[in-house]
Amino acid sequence: MDGTPAPSTRVIDREALLAKYRAERDKRLRPDGNAQYLELKGGRFAHYLEDPYTPFVEREPKTDHVTFAFVGGGFAGLVTGARLVEAGVKDVRIVEKGGDFGGTWYWNRYPGAQCDTASMVYMPLLEETGHMPSEKYAHAPEILAQCQRIGRQYQLYDNALFHTEITSLDWDQAGQRWVIRTNRGDRFTASFIGLGTGPLHVPKLPGIPGIEDFKGHSFHTSRWDYDYTGGDPLGAPMDKLADKRVAIIGTGATSVQAVPHLAKTAKQLLVFQRTPSSIDVRANAPIDPEWFQGIAEEGWQQRWLENFTDNQAMGDAKEDLVQDGWTDLSRRIRARISSLPPEQRNPLGMLAAFEQSDFEKMEEIRDRVDQIVGDRETAEKLKAWYRQLCKRPCFHDAYLQAFNNPNVRLIDTDGKGVERITEQGLMVAGVEYEVDCIIYASGFEVGTEYKRRAGFDVTGRDGLTLSQAWAEGMRSKHGIHVHGFPNLFFVSPTQGANLISNVPHNLTDSGRTIAAVVKHALDLGAHEVEVTQEAQDAWVNLLLTGPGRMMMGSSDCTPGYYNNEGQDAGLAAKYNVGYPAGASAYFRYIDAWRKSGAFEGLAFR
Ligand code: NDP
Repeated sequence: MDGTPAPSTRVIDREALLAKYRAERDKRLRPDGNAQYLELKGGRFAHYLEDPYTPFVEREPKTDHVTFAFVGGGFAGLVTGARLVEAGVKDVRIVEKGGDFGGTWYWNRYPGAQCDTASMVYMPLLEETGHMPSEKYAHAPEILAQCQRIGRQYQLYDNALFHTEITSLDWDQAGQRWVIRTNRGDRFTASFIGLGTGPLHVPKLPGIPGIEDFKGHSFHTSRWDYDYTGGDPLGAPMDKLADKRVAIIGTGATSVQAVPHLAKTAKQLLVFQRTPSSIDVRANAPIDPEWFQGIAEEGWQQRWLENFTDNQAMGDAKEDLVQDGWTDLSRRIRARISSLPPEQRNPLGMLAAFEQSDFEKMEEIRDRVDQIVGDRETAEKLKAWYRQLCKRPCFHDAYLQAFNNPNVRLIDTDGKGVERITEQGLMVAGVEYEVDCIIYASGFEVGTEYKRRAGFDVTGRDGLTLSQAWAEGMRSKHGIHVHGFPNLFFVSPTQGANLISNVPHNLTDSGRTIAAVVKHALDLGAHEVEVTQEAQDAWVNLLLTGPGRMMMGSSDCTPGYYNNEGQDAGLAAKYNVGYPAGASAYFRYIDAWRKSGAFEGLAFR
């Protein structure tokens, strides 16, 4: 038994289901797309960005030189920094806008925050740091502590600049180095630079009319105000909410994790929903140290990473070490494909198998709502009508249950969103709901311009800016190297493995690649390394031979950040892809590329 469910015998009316999916999508499509959200930086809403966690410390501006500077102190910067230190580069300087390392896990300290991908593969450098995750899905404080552990172990704190935002990055051709300016008056240089700003680091607010009128308290989930709510990120009860009427706007992955905790202590909790998330089983459990000792032989984490990736749709795993919701869908698809007659084992047959497995999975997820939620009307409204990968799949064993609490109420907006915010509360369908506090679980900017999200442009050789270079979509080799930008490296899943179910795997692997390239350049005594135009074009052309983004990003989907809020993302979407043969194949390819020592496609000068 490998746990693969037998293909369901339940009859699904495909046309009726697709019509329902389309109707629900159409309800939510709106012409303003990304523009429906408010930009917080520099404007009237800038106070929503303030750091509630770490006091600001004055310091002198930096005017020195480092071998490697990295923008962003989240997983990308930490794992790249660690690999560089291992490769002998001792002066790595991480520049981070937060008050410590952690990135996502620095900012997101909302109650109940935990990883949605198993800790054994999600948490980076477990083997190197000797840390055993305490749970199958670790909670945020443990993940933040792992970030700090990496920072300490690799001495990355020594050179780091916190509460510091880059204002410009300029290539100095004469000096063959990057000039880095920041909002703290720094002007220092670096031989090499890495960019790992992450895809979801700029909080956004919904542009609901009247949002400025609200007289009560409000904050964004990524800046949780424990002074107001009481409690702490470790799970202490938010006792100060005992006499408060609390509204939370949004029902995405963040809200799904926070709602059960708010439900425990708030006098009243109103959950304002535009689109329900799909909520699959979580089945979290502590990790047994004895079991861990048994599996933690040398190289264990790499084996687990590869196994998890091999269990995704295009992989070919013989066993499933992680066994969770991510691998479940893939196993179902594979089981269905293997039961196809040989003449149907073609791309169309596979797409049909994928669709059928997805329909079954979503039926189960909708059935689960009925099994858990007592009130029939509430249960109906909590059902997600779209394919599972149209929106971020969620996993939780207390979210749906929270709606059975007498103090919790779902305010469904039938796909329209909150109509208006007033001085006292929120309006939906002409009804005003008075509250003391509004919590915005409204997510992060995704589809906006890179320069707007990063807060700076990058100016490479001959004054070419990154905005210009990518005006018609991202172009790179391996998602790491960009022609015209010597000695600069990106760390993100895009145009590499593009493994969305476990983003850290992409990042740790890119860190390894970058360290290998930098070490090679230093060993050669080369001052510049740059991808050639031909190699970049060849890589991009190869990417474009792939199947594209499948479900994620599809215009058939209900709108959200996966598909640019249902708007045509133009060329940007076309290039937002990964290696055509899939993530496992990419990791094998890049490993061989690194090990060959030829660094094919790069020019060292
Ligand atoms: P999301 O963007 O996923 O969710 C935002 C929510 O706000 C959506 O439900 C959206 O509705 C709703 N919304 C927006 N505007 C309005 C409006 N006018 N009225 C009512 N509702 C509105 O943000 P999250 O912070 O939840 O998650 C962002 C991402 O961060 C996740 O997708 C995931 O990738 C990551 N994350 C990961 C976690 C993990 O790994 N453990 C945990 C939490 C987050 P609609 O859907 O209709 O747009």
